[in-house]
Amino acid sequence: MRRKNIALFTAQPEAAHELRIINGISEQCRKYGYHFSVFTPMAHLEFNREAYVEAEARIFRVAELGRIDGLILDAVNLVVGAGKGVLEELLERLKKYPDLPVVSLEMSVGDLPVIRSRNEEALREMCRHAIEVHGKKDICILTGHKGNEVAESRLKVCLDEIEKHGLSVKEGHIVYGDFWYSSGDALARSIAEGKTERPDTVLCTSTHMALGLIYRLRRLGIQVPEDVAVLGFDTTDEGCCNEVILSAYDAADALSAAETVDYIRRIIDPGKEILPYETEVGKMFYPGMSCGCEPNIGRTINTFLRSSYLVAYNSSSDEDMNEVKFGRLMEGYCLEEFTSAASPEEAYEKMGKKIYLLHPFRNYQLCLRKDWLEERAADDAQLPSEMDIVLSAWETPDQETCFDHEKISFPTVEMTPLLNDESLEPSIFYFSPIHFERTTFGYCVMRRSLEDKVVLSLVYRTWLRFVNNALEMIRTRMQLLSMSVRDSMTGLFNRRGMQLELEKRLGEAESGARLFTAVIDMDGLKRINDTYGHKEGDAGILMVAGAVMRSAHDGEFCVRAGGDEFFILGVGKYEEADNAARIKEFHEILNELYQKSDKAYEVVASIGCATEAVDDKLNIDAVISRADKEMYKEKSGKRRQE
Ligand code: GH3
Ligand code: MG
Repeated sequence: MRRKNIALFTAQPEAAHELRIINGISEQCRKYGYHFSVFTPMAHLEFNREAYVEAEARIFRVAELGRIDGLILDAVNLVVGAGKGVLEELLERLKKYPDLPVVSLEMSVGDLPVIRSRNEEALREMCRHAIEVHGKKDICILTGHKGNEVAESRLKVCLDEIEKHGLSVKEGHIVYGDFWYSSGDALARSIAEGKTERPDTVLCTSTHMALGLIYRLRRLGIQVPEDVAVLGFDTTDEGCCNEVILSAYDAADALSAAETVDYIRRIIDPGKEILPYETEVGKMFYPGMSCGCEPNIGRTINTFLRSSYLVAYNSSSDEDMNEVKFGRLMEGYCLEEFTSAASPEEAYEKMGKKIYLLHPFRNYQLCLRKDWLEERAADDAQLPSEMDIVLSAWETPDQETCFDHEKISFPTVEMTPLLNDESLEPSIFYFSPIHFERTTFGYCVMRRSLEDKVVLSLVYRTWLRFVNNALEMIRTRMQLLSMSVRDSMTGLFNRRGMQLELEKRLGEAESGARLFTAVIDMDGLKRINDTYGHKEGDAGILMVAGAVMRSAHDGEFCVRAGGDEFFILGVGKYEEADNAARIKEFHEILNELYQKSDKAYEVVASIGCATEAVDDKLNIDAVISRADKEMYKEKSGKRRQE
C-alpha cells in the first residue's frame, strides 16, 4: 500500500508564519504516518520581479492532484501577486478531482472549507496588556488591507476587547495598511504631521507594520514607548533584534494547520483515531521595550547569534547550526564554484561535493527537463512528460553524504520516484522550482524524515539560488559556444566549427590515417529563389543538408561552408578508389529525399571527393580545393547536357 500523502501549497517556507504551519502539519503527519509534500516557491509571490515569480509559482503544477490524498492551501500566501493565477488554475484543475479533500487555511478560496487560526485569545491578550498592565486609554489600531479577511477579523477582535474595557477607539484611530513596514511608516508620518491625532498606544496586527512604525516615529522625534507605546502581533526574529525591542504576541497558526490534517484524516481514514495537536500555551507573549515592559534579553542574544553567519564553530561540534552552514555557503564561495563549471556534469559534481551543507536530509534530487539546455519559447511552461534526475544525494545511517550524477529518467506524474518506495518512513518532501527568470529548468526535491524535526532555512533558499544561477550560466555559455561553431539554419558546423573539429580529429589521428573531404553544392538554387521565393530556396538547402548528414559515415562530420555549399569530413581509413561509390550513394540519398517531398522543382546537387594522407605535409585547403574541382567537373558536365 502506498503511504498517504498530504500536500501543502505555500511560499517562502523558511519565514515565521510558514515555518509554524509546516511544523503543525508535520507533527500530525508524523503521528498518523502520512507523507507530507510541501510545494513551495522560495520567494514571496508578491515579490516585485514578475518574470522570476511567474516561474517560481509554476512549482504548484508539479503537484499531481491524482496522486495526493489531501491538499492544504496556505491562502495568505496564495491570494497575493502571482498566487492569484495559481488559485484560478488550481480551482480549474480541482474540477477533475471532486473527491480530493482540500482545505484552505485562514482565508476563503472559492467554496473550499476554511480553517481559521484561533488567534482571538492572543489578540485580546494584547489589548488587555496595553490597558490593564500599562493603563493605556487612547488606542489606535493599525491593521492590514481593507476588506482582507485576516485584517478585518483581527481589527474586529481588538475593537471588541477595547470596548469591553469601557473604552472606545476614535474613528481616525482605525487605520488600514498592508501588513508591511510601509504602512507603519505612513502612520508615523501622519502622526508627526498631525494628520492623525497622536494616540498613547498603537496596536499593530503584524510585526512588520510595528517595526516600520517604531523606526519612523523615532526618526521623527517621537519616542517609543514614552510618547507612543507600540505592540505587535505575529512575532518575528527581527522584532527582538530591534533597537527598541518589540513587544509582540505569537500567532497560533501551527494549531490551525495541524487541525487541517485532522480534518483531512476524518475524510480519508474515517473512524481512525484523532490525536489533537498540543500548543504550548503561555508562551505566546514576547515582552519588549516598545510597550514599556522589561525585554527578554536572552531571547534577543540567541536570535542575534542564530542570524550571525560568521560564527565559526568547531566543525567537530555535533550541533547542527544553520548559521555555520550559511557561513560556509557564503564564505566557501559556493556560487563562484558552481558557476565556474564548464559543463553540466562538472556542475553536478561540484554541487554534490557541497551537498553536506543541506544536512540533515534523507534524499536530495535535482530534476531537470531533458531539454533544459536548449533555448525554448518563454511560454513553454508546462513540464514535459519525462524528467531526468541529474543529481541525486542521500545520507547514510551514519550521516555520511553520498551523491551520484548518473541520469535517471522518470515520468513527471510520479513527482519523484521516491514516492513509489513503500519502505520509506513518513517523510516531508519539499518541492521547489529550479529556473532562471521566466525559464523553468525543472525542480528540486528534498526529503527529510518527519522524525528529524528540522525546518528549512535560509541555507536551502540560498543554495537553490546558487543552483539556478549556475545552471543558467552553463546554459548560456553552451549556447554561445554552439552559436559560434554551428550554423543556426541547419545545425551543422560552420567554418569556425570545422576548423576546431578538424584540429581535434587530426590530433587524435592514428598512423596511416587519411583525410577525406567531400564538397557538395546545390544546383540551380538561384533559380528556385527567383521562381518560388527565398523560403522555398531555404527548404531546398535543408533537403540537401539532410542528404549530407545521412550520407556521412560513422565518425565523419558535416559543415555548411556557405550559402548552398557543404563539406563532409573524416579522418581515418580511406581510399581514393572508394570516392566514386560515395558520390553515387549521396545522389541516391538526395534523390530519395526529393522523391518523398512534394516539391514542384527538382532538388539536386553536385559532389566531388578527395582524400590525402595525414602527415606533416598535409595541406587541408589543397585537399578541399581538389574536391571542389571534382564537384565543378560534375556540375559543368550536367550543364553541358542541358
Ligand atoms: P549553381 O548551380 O552553379 O551552384 O548555381 P546556384 O544557383 O546554386 O548558385 P550558387 O551556388 O552560385 O550560389 C548560391 C546562391 O544561393 C547565392 C544566393 O543568392 C543563394 N543563397 C545563399 N544562401 C542562401 C540561403 O540561406 N537561402 C536561400 N534561399 N538562398 C541562399
Ligand atoms: Mg549552388
